[in-house]
Amino acid sequence: MQIFVIFISLLFISPLAAETTLKGNFTQGGLVYGKTKPGNILKLEKRKLRISSSGSFVFGFSRDTKKRLQLMIDMPNGSSETRTIKVQPRKYRVQRINGLPNNMISPPKKVLERIIIENKKINKVRMRDSNFSFWKSGFVWPAKGRISGVYGSQRILNGRPKQPHYGIDIAAPRGSLVVAPTGGVVALAEPDLYYSGGTIIIDHGHGLTSAFLHLDKLFVVVGDVVSQSQPIGTIGSTGRSTGPHLDWRINWFEKRIDPSLLVE
Ligand SMILES: [Zn+2]
Repeated sequence: MQIFVIFISLLFISPLAAETTLKGNFTQGGLVYGKTKPGNILKLEKRKLRISSSGSFVFGFSRDTKKRLQLMIDMPNGSSETRTIKVQPRKYRVQRINGLPNNMISPPKKVLERIIIENKKINKVRMRDSNFSFWKSGFVWPAKGRISGVYGSQRILNGRPKQPHYGIDIAAPRGSLVVAPTGGVVALAEPDLYYSGGTIIIDHGHGLTSAFLHLDKLFVVVGDVVSQSQPIGTIGSTGRSTGPHLDWRINWFEKRIDPSLLVE
């Protein structure tokens, strides 16, 4: 049966669809860069992908994405192809800590409303689908320092699983420079959010955004266009943070991408 299915799908690979190429990290938290013929319509699991005028596109996989995703390619001549994208699963570090006082696990009631408002704002920025193509230049490290936290790890406090850690933590002295890992437009610049303190989000285009958390100083405001390696702020320990570090996060819309896969 399996062989029969493979045989049938080989028959249906049309020369047009073969012009769609993919390269990148086919793992959970990975990012894939693609190229197709302009005019084709691509859908990954029902989400229509933004295709640039030159045929470039990008998509990413969440921390816990399933192992197989469907990429639909519709061509202007009416033919279409479905490709199965295989995603390598990963193992994440889980840390269990018990016997903590409960007020250390949940935020105090009086700040819940503030947290909800801030999260809405952040989520809205992450759903932007702009046509910028800054992401095509690739990424550099936004700060220098010791890696003190990795993507995907999770803590279970008093038996309650907390949200996994989605960023990469770079520990460095307060005041160290943070630079833009690639160009973009500043979509959020807030000096004091409850969890993340001084926070910047840069829109790199096509749903890709970078967030920089716990900043001490912000050098940019919403709407600024920044170029790769341009200083945007300094490392701090603002918000819920236990020491000066940069928490760098990357999203493809709501999907959390592992930034460490994008840099050398
Ligand atoms: Zn962090």
